[in-house]
Amino acid sequence: MTAEQARAWGAEGDHSPLMNNYGSPPRLFVRGQGAEVFDADGTSYVDFLCGIAVTGLGHAHPAITAAITAQAAKLTHTSNLFANEHQAPVAECLSRLIDGGSGQVLFQNSGAEANEAAIKLVRKYQGRGRHGVVSALRSFHGRTMAALAATGQPEKHEPYQPLPEGFRHVVWNDLDEFERSLVPEVGGVILESVQGEGGVNPARDDYLQGVRKLCDERGILLIMDEVQTGMGRTGRWFGFQHAGIVPDVVTMAKGIANGMPVGAVWARDEVAAAFGPGDHGSTYGGQALALSAARATLTELEAIDAPALAQRLEGVFRHHLEALPGVDHVRGRGLLLGVELNDEGRAGRSGAEIARACLDKGMICSGVTPTALRLAPPYVISDQQIEYGVGVLADVLADHGGDH
Ligand SMILES: *Cc1c(COP(=O)(O)O)cnc(C)c1O
Repeated sequence: MTAEQARAWGAEGDHSPLMNNYGSPPRLFVRGQGAEVFDADGTSYVDFLCGIAVTGLGHAHPAITAAITAQAAKLTHTSNLFANEHQAPVAECLSRLIDGGSGQVLFQNSGAEANEAAIKLVRKYQGRGRHGVVSALRSFHGRTMAALAATGQPEKHEPYQPLPEGFRHVVWNDLDEFERSLVPEVGGVILESVQGEGGVNPARDDYLQGVRKLCDERGILLIMDEVQTGMGRTGRWFGFQHAGIVPDVVTMAKGIANGMPVGAVWARDEVAAAFGPGDHGSTYGGQALALSAARATLTELEAIDAPALAQRLEGVFRHHLEALPGVDHVRGRGLLLGVELNDEGRAGRSGAEIARACLDKGMICSGVTPTALRLAPPYVISDQQIEYGVGVLADVLADHGGDH
């Protein structure tokens, strides 16, 4: 960081006004345009990460900027004691994309809150004694207490025990173990269609189909956490659609409003009816300013056919990435890709260190496991930008152990 950036961030001297929760940020960005962001020195970076699968339409998209600025000048917030003009159209659109138009939506502000609401909805529907929730090892469902309890990463639980009880975790993509976990107290299941934070691990279609069938047989509600995979990212509007199933509950957030904080939980009508007035709530959830961005984002995602773009661009990414000698394989779906590096490409470096080296050369991605990178680029990225960014990765992988 430059001195000016450090001052802006507050890192001068030895006492930062910011908690050290995220460590020392490697860059301070001031501006973005499409698939590019710029730091305070004007240096440009091609964005293969989109703020972690959030800004699918790219930065400073004119239609989203126009919607936010118009709404900001008109009305930002009135609370859920009243309706606003965006709630019903956005909910209708989400329902249509999920299952053709039935079901109901409750708005929140983030992915964790959407999952928290979904877990409460399932408990309310199932009643006491069927409050158990099964989720997968290596899953990620958020940082609030119940979402954290559902997250299948025990090392993240440890400092915060005791967590809410009733959560159990099963090996990913193993239907037999899943079936064995379904003790009578289990009333809900929460799964991602592609584990994002856990390393970009897609669910097998026959696994999700088997889970759906077992849930149907036993009256268990299936929650699909589409927070990272939703809004077209995997090449379908929602990742579970690859398997041809319909969940009972769907949670969404990241890609929904191109960077404004919006989360949502959808449920089929009978399940949604378990929440009546006062059962759950959020002061900001569904507020006019955030939903103006969601509405414009959904309109634009449909106009450009985001799922089709994700499918096409997946091919372009795979074509370039699979040709790199340092790459072992590419996994994932659509524009949510995990790039597994081989020993030669890593040359002793971790995924995070490789991602950092890419940043220093002008490409943004993240290290998602010690040996893999995650790419979640925007739908608006050009083939040239893909080639440029993959070229940066090629240089870093060929560089065998840093600057000499
Ligand atoms: C990011 C993420 C969350 C948490 O979302 P926040 O907005 O950070 O609370 C939950 N589930 C999945 C699958 C995610 O990728």
